[in-house]
Amino acid sequence: MGEPTVAADPPVSPTPGAPVPAEGAGQRASSGVAGGAESNGAESGGARSGAAAVPHRDRPELPGLPGQPRLVDQHCHSVVGSELAAGRFASLLTESDRPPALGASPWDSAVGLAVRRWCAPELGLPPFAPAEAYLERRRELGVAEATRVLLRAAGLGACLVDTGLTQAAGVPLLSPEELGGVAQADVHEVVRIEYVAEQAVSPGTGAHEWAAIVGDALRSAAARAVGLKSVVAYRCGLDFEPRRPAPAEVANAAALHLASGSDRLAHPVLLRHLLWEALELGLPLQLHTGFGDPDLVLHRSDPSLLTGFIRAAEPYGTPLVLLHGWPYHRQAAWLAQAFPHVYCDLGLTLTHVGAGARRVLAETLELAPFHKLLFSTDAYGLPELYLVGVAAFADALDAWLGEAVPAEAEAARIAALVAGGNARRLYRLP
Ligand SMILES: [Zn+2]
Repeated sequence: MGEPTVAADPPVSPTPGAPVPAEGAGQRASSGVAGGAESNGAESGGARSGAAAVPHRDRPELPGLPGQPRLVDQHCHSVVGSELAAGRFASLLTESDRPPALGASPWDSAVGLAVRRWCAPELGLPPFAPAEAYLERRRELGVAEATRVLLRAAGLGACLVDTGLTQAAGVPLLSPEELGGVAQADVHEVVRIEYVAEQAVSPGTGAHEWAAIVGDALRSAAARAVGLKSVVAYRCGLDFEPRRPAPAEVANAAALHLASGSDRLAHPVLLRHLLWEALELGLPLQLHTGFGDPDLVLHRSDPSLLTGFIRAAEPYGTPLVLLHGWPYHRQAAWLAQAFPHVYCDLGLTLTHVGAGARRVLAETLELAPFHKLLFSTDAYGLPELYLVGVAAFADALDAWLGEAVPAEAEAARIAALVAGGNARRLYRLP
């Protein structure tokens, strides 16, 4: 998830799923690298008719990682703590911040299908229960219980929460501490540099003091964080001039920005200045790349446009983490192979691409070294997006390991790196 979007009140859309669709869309049992099916007491096959059958899960357990929780979600946002109307709930199933087209619903998408597939059984419904039944069951349980069940089913050991977003669909998000309590996961903060810079400026700030004020704010925010994040892809695209701007350029740009009266930092010189300040702080710097909400110009989020900046940043040694990637995940994978300080992840992407998750993960692992790919969900607003992100990742990794790594111990080693080991090492987590 990239930029905060102002929640309109979207119309309640027709809820798909009634009647329950035919079996399909990646509906396969685990390839069983680690025999996940038996650990759930689940069988492949049954309970697909929509009848009141015993719910089961068909998502694979990650191989070689006995016991939960163990996943490290290296990029995510918190979830809402109160009930959402149906239209607002649906609005969080899409990256679009626009009302759905007439007769369309965000539920009728790969994400909607994944929620019905993976989350419905956790709430005591058959897989692919209709959206209306799903929301009704959620209301019966209450938001606190539904959130607890879904987050714990995700089995996260640690969450690195981007605190640059504070509400979803117009509803406040739980604090990171509240999220960690419900999920029974450790939480760590990732600070969004543009947000910090925007918050640091007051009406009396002068152009010549802008850089010093913002620098102080970034340093104190970094002191409580394990990583930093930039949404420069949204603000000016990734095809920016790579070199560090001179102090006079920064002061001139600050004068223009402050005179504009806008809270939103969009001047390319100031955005570049923030990136260079972030490099000096040394914490891993996450960068939004690839798809996102309609505020983005997609082709300007191709991470290969960052190549000049990546080269210029190399002497600092600060890790750069390319988030999301799609449809440029192959470019991100190449950058992760080519440059020792570049890492990549597939958060948001695996959640959104449905059955394509297996292909996208496999394409990423064509080039990305196993110690350079990080797991994340980029969940935002809905606890469902945590569980869907985990399930899509586990399913895709299980399929790839089954094909590419027939040796069980080796499969377990690679899975452990991607699922959490890489993030623990990179962010120096306990
Ligand atoms: Zn995000």
